[in-house]
Amino acid sequence: MDWQKIVIHHSASPVAVRRGGQVVPVNAAMIREWHLTKGWSDIGYHFVILPDGSCESGRPLYRPGAHCIASNRNFCGIGICLVGNFSETEVPDVQLRGLGAKVQALLAAYHLQVQDVELHREVPGAATECPGRYFPADLLEKELQEMFCVAGSGKSGGSQAARVSDIW
Ligand SMILES: [Zn+2]
Repeated sequence: MDWQKIVIHHSASPVAVRRGGQVVPVNAAMIREWHLTKGWSDIGYHFVILPDGSCESGRPLYRPGAHCIASNRNFCGIGICLVGNFSETEVPDVQLRGLGAKVQALLAAYHLQVQDVELHREVPGAATECPGRYFPADLLEKELQEMFCVAGSGKSGGSQAARVSDIW
């Protein structure tokens, strides 16, 4: 795959569901189940960011995703899903930091720029609120720009890096 974009989504779901009298967290395995129920071959996203900021792998990166039909993004965009419904609640700081770390790693791995990171709703042709009206797009962009500068400047910049990690 020739990945050129990173597309951010939310699961638009609770962070946990009740099953057989037990509360079960929503994670990549559960989203995979939901997507298999739709008749898909696998989870649609390549990565899932849990509420605690940890990242789970979804569909392998050697396969196109099933997360954004608009603008051919399934074939050129890596799909990352944050568990939660950010049309109803704000993104926890720790989850946003986990997203930032994963996105930064992918930008470096695929030689992409901060402007290649898109929210689902920003993709031309997409008609959605995803990843939710409370998703802090400005904060994500600002922090990625700072991370990118730190990573790309070649300076040791210890204090600057520390400052970024404090924020994230
Ligand atoms: Zn989406």
